[in-house]
Amino acid sequence: MAEPFWRTKTLAEMSRAEWESLCDGCGRCCVLKVEDEETREVFNSSIVCELFDLGNCRCTRYPERIELIEDCVVLDPITVHEYTWLPDSCAYRRLAAGRDLAWWHPLVSGSAETVVEAGISVFGNVVSAAGIHPDDLDEQLADVQESPLVWMDD
Ligand code: SF4
Repeated sequence: MAEPFWRTKTLAEMSRAEWESLCDGCGRCCVLKVEDEETREVFNSSIVCELFDLGNCRCTRYPERIELIEDCVVLDPITVHEYTWLPDSCAYRRLAAGRDLAWWHPLVSGSAETVVEAGISVFGNVVSAAGIHPDDLDEQLADVQESPLVWMDD
């Protein structure tokens, strides 16, 4: 049986479709984060971007998200090494570090459900920023360092 593309190609060699298929839809990169200015440590909140669909854990405006959300970023074969706040479970981060995809990744398991079953998805553990007033949002994010959302190891 032929080896899957993520074992035979580097991230830079992948087609656009292959690259996009690597995203497991965990939603961890879409939670709002707070960085400690002194230590540069990043804390995850349990509030997710206003464009995030809480039901299917996907961005509702993916093609134009960069124009719509000031802090949104583009992940590519270079920035994957720079965004150290990406979770260890992230497929891009795993492959960039020379690891394989995990058993629960949809490309391995054949089902998007395994991302939830393995406790990797943010499904059920976050609320949307869309329902929070901007003033309240600032207040809630100010408290994130006290009780950040901590990922389960993958
Ligand atoms: S953390 Fe990685 S795998 Fe998860 S949603 Fe973000 S880009 Fe996709």
